[in-house]
Amino acid sequence: MATRRGLALHWKILIGFALGALAGVAVDRFWTPGTWSAIGVNDPSAFLSPRGKEAFASGTGSPANEEAGVVAGSVRFLRNLNLFVGQFFFQCLRFIAVPVVFCSLIVGVSSLGDPKRLGRIGLKTLLYFASTGAIAITLGLVIANVVKPGQYVDAERRASMTAEYQSRVAESVQRTLEVPSGWQQAISVIPSNPFEALATTQMLQVIFFAMAIGLGLTMIPPERAKPVTLFFDALTDVIIKLVGIVMRLAPYAVFALVANAISGMGLNVLGALLVYSVTVVAGLGFMLFVVYPTLLRLFAGVGYARFFRAMSPAMLTAFSSSSSSATLPVTIQCANRRLGVSERITSFVCPLGATVNMDGTAMYQGIAALFIAQIYDIPLTIGGQVTIVLTALLASIGTPGIPGAGVVMLVIVLESVRVPAEGIAVILGVDRLLDMFRTVVNVAGDSTAAAFVARTEGEILTEAEVNATLEAEAAESDSTRTTGSEPGNVD
Ligand code: ASP
Repeated sequence: MATRRGLALHWKILIGFALGALAGVAVDRFWTPGTWSAIGVNDPSAFLSPRGKEAFASGTGSPANEEAGVVAGSVRFLRNLNLFVGQFFFQCLRFIAVPVVFCSLIVGVSSLGDPKRLGRIGLKTLLYFASTGAIAITLGLVIANVVKPGQYVDAERRASMTAEYQSRVAESVQRTLEVPSGWQQAISVIPSNPFEALATTQMLQVIFFAMAIGLGLTMIPPERAKPVTLFFDALTDVIIKLVGIVMRLAPYAVFALVANAISGMGLNVLGALLVYSVTVVAGLGFMLFVVYPTLLRLFAGVGYARFFRAMSPAMLTAFSSSSSSATLPVTIQCANRRLGVSERITSFVCPLGATVNMDGTAMYQGIAALFIAQIYDIPLTIGGQVTIVLTALLASIGTPGIPGAGVVMLVIVLESVRVPAEGIAVILGVDRLLDMFRTVVNVAGDSTAAAFVARTEGEILTEAEVNATLEAEAAESDSTRTTGSEPGNVD
C-alpha cells in the first residue's frame, strides 16, 4: 500500500530482493578468472599480494578474497560490507526471537481467558497444522511420483556428488543420532531449568514454559494476574516496535542476504539437479499460490491480494534469512497489523507455528525422500509412502526454524523407509536454495493458520478496517514525527 511516506515497505523489499538475486547470479556466473580478462586485465595476479598470487595460482581462492592491491581490496571491502549488512539484520531478528516467543505466548495464552477456551483454540490450531502438513507432504509425493525426478540423474553424476558431499552427510547423520527418541522428546519438552531453555534457545521448552505461565495466570485472581500480564504485554509491544525499526533495514538486508546466498551457491549444481529442484519449487509454489489462498478464501474470508500484500514482508524476510524463527517477529507484526488478526490469536498461533508447523519443510522432505529412493532404484510401496507422510510430519515438527535444519531431519525420514542416508549427498548442493523457498511456505502456513483460527473465533478485521487502522496510524506517526518522535511500524 502506498503511503504518504513513499513506496510501501513490501515494494522496497521486493526491489532489494530482485536486485540481490541479479547481483548474486552475476557474481556466481562472472566472478571467475575469465572475468578479469574480459575487462581487460589479462594477468589478475598483478593485483595480488604474494599470498593472493599463490592462492590464485593454486586455484584455492579468488583474487577478491585475498590480501591484494586496490582493485581486489575494494572488491573485498564491498563484499564484507554486504555480508555485514545481511548479518546485522539477521542478528537483530535472532536477538528478538526468544523474547518474542516467550512474551507473546504468555500474553496470548493468558488473554485467552480460561483453560477451556485455550484448549479449544489450541486444538483447532494443532488440527489445522497437522492437516496442512499432511496435505503438503501428500501433494509433494504425488508430484514426485508423476515427475519422477530421480530418473534424470545418471549413475556417474550420483557418484561424483556423493563423493563431494560425503563428509557433510556424515555430519548430518551424526546430528540425527543425537536426536532423542519420540518418547524422550515428549518428556524433554518440559525443561528442567526453564531459564537454561531461554538461554540456549530450546524453542519447544520455551513454548512450554510460556504456556505454563500464561495458563497459571488465568487461574489466579485477576487483580493478582494483571500486573504480570500488563508487564509482558508492554514488553511485547516494545519488541514489536523494535521489529518495526529493524524492518527499515529490510530492503538493503534482503539485497545483501540474497546476493550473498546466491553468489555462493555454485549454480552449476542446479543444472544437474534441475528437475529435482523444479519439482520441489513447483510443489512449494502450488502450496503457496493455490492451496493456502483457497483455504484462506474458504475458511477465513481473506482474498488473494490481501493475503500477499499483508504477508509479503514476512515471506521475503523468510526467503532471505531461511529461518522461520528469525522471521517470527516480522510474521507476528504482519499477521497482526497488516492482515488484521487479533493480537491474542497471533501471539498464540504464530510462535507455536514457527516451531512446530513446517509445511514447506514437510513437503520438501517427502519429495527428497522419494527422489533419493528413485536414484537408488528402491521401489516405495503405498505403505512406504504413508510412512513417509507420517515421519515427515513428525520430523518437520521436530525441525528447528533455522537454516538447513530440514535436511538434517530428512535422515530420519529416509531411515524410516530404509533408503540410504548417503543419498542426501546428491541433494546437498541445491539445499541452500531450496531452504529459502521452503521457509517462505513455512512462514506463510503459520499466517494462514492464524487467519483461520481468528476467523472461527470472530477475531479478524475486514480489509477496510485494517486499511483504516493503518491510515490512522500513518497520520498519527506523521504528526508525531513533526514533533520528533520515531514511528516503528511495518506499514
Ligand atoms: N529453514 C527452515 C525454517 O527455518 C527449516 C528447514 O531447514 O527446512 O523454516
